[in-house]
Amino acid sequence: MKRDSDRVKKAVAIATKAHEGQFRKTGEPYIVHPLAVKKILEDWGMDEDTIIAGILHDTVEDTELTLKDIEQEFGESVAFLVDGVTKLSVARNGMRDLDTYLPQTKDNFLRLMVALGDDIRVLIIKLADRLHNLRTLSALPPDKQKKIAKESLDVFAPLADRLNMGLLRVEMSDLAFKYVDPKRYAYLKDLIEKYNKQAARSLKKIETEISSALKKEKIKFILSGRVKSVYSLHKKLAKHDQNINEIYDLTALRVIVEDITDCYLTLGIIHSLYTPMNGRIKDYIAMPKQNGYQSLHTTVITKDKHIVEFQIRTKEMHEFAEHGLAASFYYNEQKLTENYKKGKIEHLPTNLLWITELQMTAAKLREGKKVDLKKLKLNLFADRIFVYTPKGDILDLPQGALPLDFAYRLHSEIGDHVVGVKINGKMANLNKKLEHGDVVEILTSKNQLPKTSWLDKIITSHARSKILHSLNSNNKKL
Ligand code: MN
Repeated sequence: MKRDSDRVKKAVAIATKAHEGQFRKTGEPYIVHPLAVKKILEDWGMDEDTIIAGILHDTVEDTELTLKDIEQEFGESVAFLVDGVTKLSVARNGMRDLDTYLPQTKDNFLRLMVALGDDIRVLIIKLADRLHNLRTLSALPPDKQKKIAKESLDVFAPLADRLNMGLLRVEMSDLAFKYVDPKRYAYLKDLIEKYNKQAARSLKKIETEISSALKKEKIKFILSGRVKSVYSLHKKLAKHDQNINEIYDLTALRVIVEDITDCYLTLGIIHSLYTPMNGRIKDYIAMPKQNGYQSLHTTVITKDKHIVEFQIRTKEMHEFAEHGLAASFYYNEQKLTENYKKGKIEHLPTNLLWITELQMTAAKLREGKKVDLKKLKLNLFADRIFVYTPKGDILDLPQGALPLDFAYRLHSEIGDHVVGVKINGKMANLNKKLEHGDVVEILTSKNQLPKTSWLDKIITSHARSKILHSLNSNNKKL
């Protein structure tokens, strides 16, 4: 274990003093939390400034300590990171109403983006903070548990995924899902365990066969099982009409080898031993996923009719798949320079360069400069579109959203009285699909009331429930 540097020791001492007399809901002294965040960031291999900012992340908001103090003691960079985390948390606390909060909330989202744009490490600290809060969620009252858990599933776990932080995504989503839907969680966890028990013997056999075949070919390897996460099984089952027989990756084996050549050799060896399933070979080495994930995947049927998924990758790919963006900090060991803050992050893998784009745009927004938002590709939320009110507020909606979805997202009072819509300054039909970057102006009239036909002009469940609610109460009034 690495010894703490003098700066880190000083940060721990200052945070301990600042949080003195404060306690967590678990009953422990508050400092336990920042220290846990420190440990998580260390495990992720983050740089010293990030670790120090992690130790201090709650001081500015919750204690007497000021940003100025932090800047004097630890320099501009640490103060900058703490400020970013504080801003994120202030933005979040500003949204008290559970239903309207995140990620729908324009203001909050914009702030999130701006803070993100400052430095991606802010987000990594926030993820570590959230992870520890989830691990200790049992101490909170049930309504808070549900809120935090749901927000973690909706916002933080997908963020971890976009940053290819696989271990974090799995831990977060399973911890959170347990609170969001405890019965379903228990049922699926049990299902996975039973399945694994059944598969255990034949899996042993497969491991032996693969090991001896690889040794024969003089390929160095590490073989390990991977247990499917409860939440990902839940999502997959939803896609496949709850038919577990269509889930082919319940049992998966990982083969970690030395280099890319060995990856392909190993794939060939596996296919010579077992029958590959049609259409289940995926080459994410030649074509990485959007988040940078690389591996070869194949699903095979063994002699005793077991279906097993293999994931084959190099050590570097494995490290990156588990720790994602955090791993790239670790591997490059590059000092984060002023350039980094300004958005020139040369040491990021090319498939994560969208972060640069996001940062530069956020910097412009902060300076009050005009930004061509159409050009901004927010790969972070690839399945969402971002549209604007004439005042420049940002709302994010699912792809395919229609003007009424937008109106109801603004406010049900607005939605209920829609008479028309202008998209980019021109009158448009309520059937017109909104596009990323559109400026949408809703025209209303007090006399207008929701119509049944509106149900065909929306795609979000939010708008649907609001329309149904209005239709019902209007009927009662008549
Ligand atoms: Mn915290």
